[in-house]
Amino acid sequence: MSEIVKEKPVEFSLPRRIKRLEELAYNLWWVWHPEVPRLFKDIDELLWEKSYHNPVVFLRDVDRARLNAATNDRYFLDNYDRVLREFDRYMNEKDTWFSRTYPNLTDELMAYFSFEFGLHESLMVYAGGLGILSGDHLKESSDLGIPMVAVGFVYTYGYFSQRISEDGWQEAENVPIDFDSLPLIRLLDENGAPVKIVIDLPGRKVFARIFQLNVGRVKLYLLHTNIPDNDPNDRQLTDMLYISDLELRISQEILLGMGGVRALRALGYQPTAWHMNEGHSAFLTLERALEYVEKGMHFDEAVEVIKKTNIFTTHTPVPAGNDEFPLWLVDKYFVQVWPDLGLSRDDFIDIAKIKQSWGGDAFSMPILALKLSAFRNGVSELHGKVARGMWQFLWPDRKEEDVPISHITNGIHTETWLARQIGILFSRYLGADWADRLDDPNLWAQVENIPDEEMWRVRRHLKRKLVAKIITWGRNRWQTGHVHPVQTIASGVLLDPYTLTIGFARRFATYKRANLILRDYDRLLRIVTNARMPVQFIFAGKAHPADEPGKLMIQEIYRAVKDARFGGRLVFLEDYDMNIARYMVQGVDVWLNTPRRPREASGTSGMKAALNGVLNFSILDGWWREGYNGHNGWEIGNDIDKDMDRDERDAKEALNLYDTLENEIVPLYYEQRSADGLPADWIAKVKENIRTLAGQFSMRRMVKEYMTDMYELAILNGIEERNGEEEQA
Ligand SMILES: *Cc1c(COP(=O)(O)O)cnc(C)c1O
Repeated sequence: MSEIVKEKPVEFSLPRRIKRLEELAYNLWWVWHPEVPRLFKDIDELLWEKSYHNPVVFLRDVDRARLNAATNDRYFLDNYDRVLREFDRYMNEKDTWFSRTYPNLTDELMAYFSFEFGLHESLMVYAGGLGILSGDHLKESSDLGIPMVAVGFVYTYGYFSQRISEDGWQEAENVPIDFDSLPLIRLLDENGAPVKIVIDLPGRKVFARIFQLNVGRVKLYLLHTNIPDNDPNDRQLTDMLYISDLELRISQEILLGMGGVRALRALGYQPTAWHMNEGHSAFLTLERALEYVEKGMHFDEAVEVIKKTNIFTTHTPVPAGNDEFPLWLVDKYFVQVWPDLGLSRDDFIDIAKIKQSWGGDAFSMPILALKLSAFRNGVSELHGKVARGMWQFLWPDRKEEDVPISHITNGIHTETWLARQIGILFSRYLGADWADRLDDPNLWAQVENIPDEEMWRVRRHLKRKLVAKIITWGRNRWQTGHVHPVQTIASGVLLDPYTLTIGFARRFATYKRANLILRDYDRLLRIVTNARMPVQFIFAGKAHPADEPGKLMIQEIYRAVKDARFGGRLVFLEDYDMNIARYMVQGVDVWLNTPRRPREASGTSGMKAALNGVLNFSILDGWWREGYNGHNGWEIGNDIDKDMDRDERDAKEALNLYDTLENEIVPLYYEQRSADGLPADWIAKVKENIRTLAGQFSMRRMVKEYMTDMYELAILNGIEERNGEEEQA
């Protein structure tokens, strides 16, 4: 491999003494180390907010005088030195969980592929939960010292930004991403030309550039096709996430799967095992098979080889939600590929053929991944079971429980989602090393040591912070002059920091039933406007631009939000993203989730809430079915008969929701106050919730499970295969 040069797009002019701020800006390590943003805030807090927490923009725009002032500030310099010592220690650490647990595997490498990565709000290369999971997975892999490289896309526009019209209609705006403002490192060859890979699409070649993003110790490579080498259509390939156009979509997936393997090879990586996060990257199996077929192996043999080092995680519990392509499209795009694989057209299609409800056939990405991976899992216990049922037809001679799809329940990256003030309580009462012991149940038992009044003080502080932030956002929108007055009320300027506050934020897909709470409108009015014990609701979330029912659901919510009778206690926050998510999961009192079971494969926002002492109130679906123990939050509609028809079930679950809210949650919050004015029983629940959920649903626990249940075995298979090849050679 020739020399690869790494170039940062912007040269900052920084005083020498604090020059290494640049290194911090170009490694997302800072995202989960709050002492770094504090450095930027100390230099210029307003600019830090204005640059949307983006260090590259911040360092580009900051006033030289302020930087000079910082170099004369002892306090700042002490913090700066401490942060960099910590950064250096982290980056150079040889003694990690991975190296201690797998000393013989430290030269191996995991590859991780995903359509989207949610790492930070300033990097719009994610749409929602799947992306956040990928981002959190990389952060935790870095923390644990797992040798990993990852592959994804950087998009021209990213995911759309959301505005709500006065009438409650979602308007999608595609704002181009300014690449120079992102911590993307350009990869150049020895002649200074961008490193590129090429894939074959019908009648043409498509080139992609590769950008590097540092996520702690893990490197993420992002492909991008908007470059002069490509014709205008192909330049659009990496325009947006989740385009509905099937030709663009299959091209994207060929680029990610096949192009992604080529990108890693071009950069000199030889991963030992490969993890596909969801089916979008499943074409990587074909590229890997092709590598062996080109060396003279028969396709079936090649499959046997690559399978042992492929890992596939499915996230979709409904057949209709899975990625499938019509056969005419597969013919068009793969007619070149099957001869190369030594297959006939029919043999090729047969690999991933799925019957459609209308009787025809399609090519299924999850089937391709399931058949060509030896390790397969769903993302919660219930979802594992649903997936075994859904895919049983692929293993016709096995009983459902023996279908070889296991489960590893999702988790969240603790330090990304934890409020700083809660972290301070943990340091004080769980021990300074709490972050090293996240998955140790003994650690979390010590939550009992946190004094009630401190717990409550922090909870109240976080709610005030959320409300203050929402009022600022609402005021800013009002000042743009583009909103109707009632929209300013809808944006939350009448929120009260001392009222019981319920959060509901997620993608507006119809199965998530955001409108379940509106089913008995009058009862909701009574609950919300109870003069002695009022309740407020904060909603946020996007609908996919092509999802009309999802958009109608937003409209239904927005109309209620605007209804003067609620007195501004229902609120809709526009343009849900990781920043809003962080404020909400830290600041509200209760986190509500009302999916139609079992369609929520896992869900992760409730885990973020739980970590921060926010109580979950949810359908027993996905993760909450495992997390709920009767005391650490509330369930909705546990005893609902599975075979009940949809409308009847909605009605029963809504009724149960109102009853629990009115008879248990509201009184617990307002009435059970002890002599010192603290809601002692509420606080006890908050602690029980942290004790039982914070560790179990951490990314620490999750990534360790991936490591012990799948990665280790896949890596050992890879080593065995490599040794075999070397013997033959
Ligand atoms: C955590 C998160 C999600 C996923 O939440 P779910 O509970 O799975 O719906 C989606 N979007 C953002 C911005 C998040 O932070």
